[in-house]
Order: sequence, then C-alpha cells, then structure tokens
Amino acid sequence: MDLFPYKTRKNQRAIMDTITKNLQSEDDFIFESGTGSGKTICTLASTLSFALKNNKKIIYTTRTNAQQRQVILELRQIRSRMEKNQDTIFGLGIQGRANMCILARNNPDYARGTADELSRLCSNEKKRVRSNNKHDGCIYYRRFIEDTNKVDNTLDWIKNSLPTAEETIEHCEKLQICPYELNKLLIKDASIVVVPYVYVFENVIRNMLFDWLSVNEKDVILIVDEAHNLPDYIRDLFSLQLSVWMLQNCIIESDKYGNPTLIKDNLTVSDFCKIIIDIIRDLRDTYVYNIFENGIIKNTPNREDAFIPTNEFEIEILSRLKTTSKKLHDIISDLIAYGEKIQEYKQKKGKLPRSFIHKLGVFLEFWNNLEDNKYVKLIVDSSEGKNPRIEAYCLDPSIVNYIIKKFYSTIHMSGTLEPLEEYRDSMGLPKDSELVAYPSPFSHTNRKILYVNDVTTKYDEILKDKEIIERMKFYISKICNNFPKNTMVFFPSFNYLSNFKRDFNFKDMDRYFYFEEQKMSQSALMEIVNDFKSSGLEDGKCATLFSVMGGRISEGMDFPAEQLEIVLIVGIPYPKPTAKQRGLQKYYELKFRKGWEYTVEAPTARKLLQSIGRLIRDENDKGIAVILDKRANRFKKYIKELDQTNNLIKDIEFFMKNFF
Ligand code: SF4
Repeated sequence: MDLFPYKTRKNQRAIMDTITKNLQSEDDFIFESGTGSGKTICTLASTLSFALKNNKKIIYTTRTNAQQRQVILELRQIRSRMEKNQDTIFGLGIQGRANMCILARNNPDYARGTADELSRLCSNEKKRVRSNNKHDGCIYYRRFIEDTNKVDNTLDWIKNSLPTAEETIEHCEKLQICPYELNKLLIKDASIVVVPYVYVFENVIRNMLFDWLSVNEKDVILIVDEAHNLPDYIRDLFSLQLSVWMLQNCIIESDKYGNPTLIKDNLTVSDFCKIIIDIIRDLRDTYVYNIFENGIIKNTPNREDAFIPTNEFEIEILSRLKTTSKKLHDIISDLIAYGEKIQEYKQKKGKLPRSFIHKLGVFLEFWNNLEDNKYVKLIVDSSEGKNPRIEAYCLDPSIVNYIIKKFYSTIHMSGTLEPLEEYRDSMGLPKDSELVAYPSPFSHTNRKILYVNDVTTKYDEILKDKEIIERMKFYISKICNNFPKNTMVFFPSFNYLSNFKRDFNFKDMDRYFYFEEQKMSQSALMEIVNDFKSSGLEDGKCATLFSVMGGRISEGMDFPAEQLEIVLIVGIPYPKPTAKQRGLQKYYELKFRKGWEYTVEAPTARKLLQSIGRLIRDENDKGIAVILDKRANRFKKYIKELDQTNNLIKDIEFFMKNFF
C-alpha cells in the first residue's frame, strides 16, 4: 500500500494483500481480475514495495509491447507520487534485439533476423568497431564507446524520466547511440525489468539477461502478465517445423556454396534435400490427402494436417538412402558443420549469419531426440499444396516448469484466466498455489451481455437452414443502422470475415467501415484502429470495425468511453478440429481427464471474454455485447452476466435508454 499511487477501488486492497502474503511465504499466486480493474498497478506497487524492503529484483514479463508500455507508465505514477527518494524507483523496459538494434531496424535484410542471428551479427559488428579501422562496424556502437558525454547524458535522461522502450529507442536513434548497449549498463540499477516472454523462457536469452542483472533467480520475483497466453506461447516456442520452402532454400544455399557431399559418399546436400522434399510430399499425399498408392484419391477431406506414425519419417529417410541410423547421425552432424561454416562466412562479410542448411541439421537432430510423450509429430499442409511441412508440436507447456521453480516467487495474472486450475495444471505449478478470481469491480449496469437463439455458425446447421446467415446479416445491419455508436464486429477467423465482407450489403449505411486484414502490418493496423477510435469526433458519423477473435485487436487494445460501445460476436471461436488440436485434447484427457474442458471450452471462453473485454476499461465506461450464436449458452459458467434475448433491438434500446 505504501507505493500505491491512487485511491483504491473495489478488490484492489485485497489483491495487494494477497500478493504480499504470497511473497512473504515464497509461494506462487495465480489470479484473474477483469480488464480495467487495475491489476497492473496493484501487482506493481505491492511487489515493488516487498522487493525494495527485501533486496529482491522483479522481472515483469508481458506478451505485448502495449502491455509493457502500460507497466512503465504505472511505474512513473508510483515514482511521481513519492515525496522523497524517488530514485529508488527505477525500472527498464527491454524489447528484443529486432526492435532495439537500430542497425537492424534500418536494414531490411537484418530486420528479418532471428534473435540468435542478430546476436551473432551484433558481436561481429562490435568486433569490427574495436579493430583499428575507424570506419568499420556498427556506427551506433562506435558512438556508444566513443562519445562518453552523450552516453552519460542519455543514462541520466533514462534514470530521470523512466522512458518506455519505444521512447528510449526513438531518443537513441536521434543521438545515434545503441539503446541495447545502454540498457545493459543500466539494468543492474533497476529494481524491475519489463521484458517479453522470450527473455524468461528461452534458455540462451534468459542466461544473457541474468548475466546482465548479475543476480540469481532465487532473488528475483517473476510476474507473468496476460498469463492466459503463456501456455500457447510455450508450445509454439518449443515446437519446430521443416517445410518444403526451407528445403528449397537449403538447395539454393548449397548450390551457392559448392554443393558439398555428405559422409564422404556421393550424396550431396542438395540430393539429400530433394529426398526429404519427396518424403514430405509423400507423407502429405498419404496422410492429409489420403491418396492411395496407385494414385487414386480415396477422398479429399477438408483438412490441413495429420499425425505421422512414430518413426515413419526417419524410417523413410533410412530406406530411401539405403543407410543406417549411425550414418544418418553423421549426415546430420555434417549438415550442422557446413551450416556453421556458412554462418561464419556470412558473418565475416557483414551479412546476416543465416544458414538454412544449419537449420535443417538442427531440426533433424531435434526430431531424432524428441521426448515422444510430450510431442506430437504432424504433417501439415495449410497453403493448398504450396508448402507442406513436418512439425514436432509441443503439447506440454509445463516443459518450462523447471525455469519457473527457480524464482523466489511467481505471480501469474490475466483478465481472463478461468478456470484457474487449468492454468496451474498446464504450467505444472504447485497444487497448493493460491488461486483467486476477483469479481468485476464495475456496476452490472455498465455492461449488458446478450445472445440470440436463432443463429449459429455451426456448419451443419447453416447447411440445413439457409436463412441463418441472412438473419445474422440482418442483426448486424439493424444494429449499425439503429444505434449511432462505435461498434466492433468480431468473427471466429479471417475466413469468416472475408466471406462476410464479400456478401454483406454496406450500401445506405451512414457510417465508416474498417476491416482488419490477416497480414496487415502493425502500422497499417494502428492506422485503421486510430481512425476508428476518432470516428464521430469531427462529423458525428460513427464507425464499425470488423475484426477477429484471438487477434491483435481483441487481445490487446483499449477502447475507452465512446471509442467503443457495442461489440457483436459472430459465432463461437472453437478451435479448428485439426490433428494438432486432437493431439492436444487427447494429451490433456490422459494427463488430467479434462481434455474437452481444458483444450476446447476454456480457450474458447477466454477468446469470447477478451473480445467482450474491449468494452469496459474503467468505472465510467458503458457497453453492450451481443453473441450471435445460440451455443453461447454453453459458456454461462464463464460469462456470468450472459442473458438470452428474444427481441435484440428492443433490449439494446432499453439498456441504452436506462443506463447510458
Ligand atoms: S551495437 Fe546495437 S545497434 Fe549495433 S548491432 Fe549491436 S545491437 Fe545493433
């Protein structure tokens, strides 16, 4: 409480007390508290207070840069309300090298580099600066080591103004000094470091972070924000893929570097890659397309992936190469060694040290040493035959449990984390971790959540009743026409969104329309979001923004007050019934006896709640959410205020008249 900078609202004192209690007993705490309830400031103030008194540091990890920014802004609030010793409150926002390396930001080739590639590139650039040639190497590093005045001034500026990572980058770009190197100097003085998940859960990057911090994990409190994203993030981080596109790049690379032979036979790298491409295509034909050996297609199901039987990929390689496991092992070692030479060569030439051959070797080594019970092996074709791939998909996010256990204490929080047991079990946290779901602090009269019972996006029902889609369009156009309020329409996928856009009649509607697109750049997305937010300010004409659930808008952006007052949700965002999803469900069924609840129901409810959560950001916000799907009633245990409506327009009118 001593660092809390505002007047407390409902639940906030309870959140801070429970955090402090768990920190004192070195336990883990998992909690849900709705969007706008102030969980960031509560967690920050109570943890910081404990850390300062007990000589601990805090790593606060977030999924999005927007959330990282929010943490730094709250830290400034804490500091600004302190009467003395303001400089005891110091924190740093750090992003990945792809954002913080100015050299990479200004070079399109480097900008595509992975963390490892950029780290190697940076080492080489710095080595060149330290050589005697005055004009060689990274200019931002040169300025950093040569212009000590500028560096000292910038360090003071950062300590005094607590900038966000973006502000630091912008400031340093103007001064032409590397922000990444500056952060490394400052990090030891910080009580709190705000980083993306990768800094905690990727081993090489975490070790580097702890080297900079010069502390042991036992002296660090870990805060995981937006924790509902963590299990999927970990699954992706620990999964690996090998695609035909990547193998084709191996062939190009191999031709460029003399097409070396493997294991002293006549097998060249490109021959080997062509064999792997054939195997991947054959696996795709057999298991995804179901093509029989004589070439007759038994059926062409509408699916994009399938399981590969255990060891089938390895057996195919051995049989086509007529070789042994021992020789395959040698081939993999050769691929890695060739790849390393290519990386070194490119590094010396000042290029991004990327080698596809190296990636191929690493993939095959990984595949051969998989812990089979935690992974599922898949053949995937999600690009209509253009780029099939094999994939080792990690099913078990508790694979990082050994990392979490090292910390002094951990706090995991989100606006949508229920059922909390699912998160605890998925992440392998102790059974006695404290779990609390705080009720919404806002009046129930601020938000209405309705669903209609005569529409659905369920495929076989739409086939049976052609009127369903027309009714949905009717609801959307009626709401847009009757209520001059900023409205968002969320779809289960971009596919649904584009079909809708193609068939919907936008004519005669006196409002602006904006559409999120799948591969939109962040800047293009922000442009439409900002236009949407400011609609109505000048000409009184409001707007509708079409977006998807589980996307960048529904999971991370704020729309306070009149910026958003109606949310329409089209359909229920169940996960696609892919082989990957079935593998996950089966794994959870075997491990927890809760396959459906943990892998289908809970993630779907979270996506719904995240989209609805855009409506209310503080106690003055008002809003209405409507789910256009009768299956919404299955989620009543997660969406407690959910009501059925038999007269949607009338019910919205009533709510607006009485509560807006
Ligand atoms: S010193 Fe900084 S700007 Fe230069 S390459 Fe390294 S990270 Fe990038």
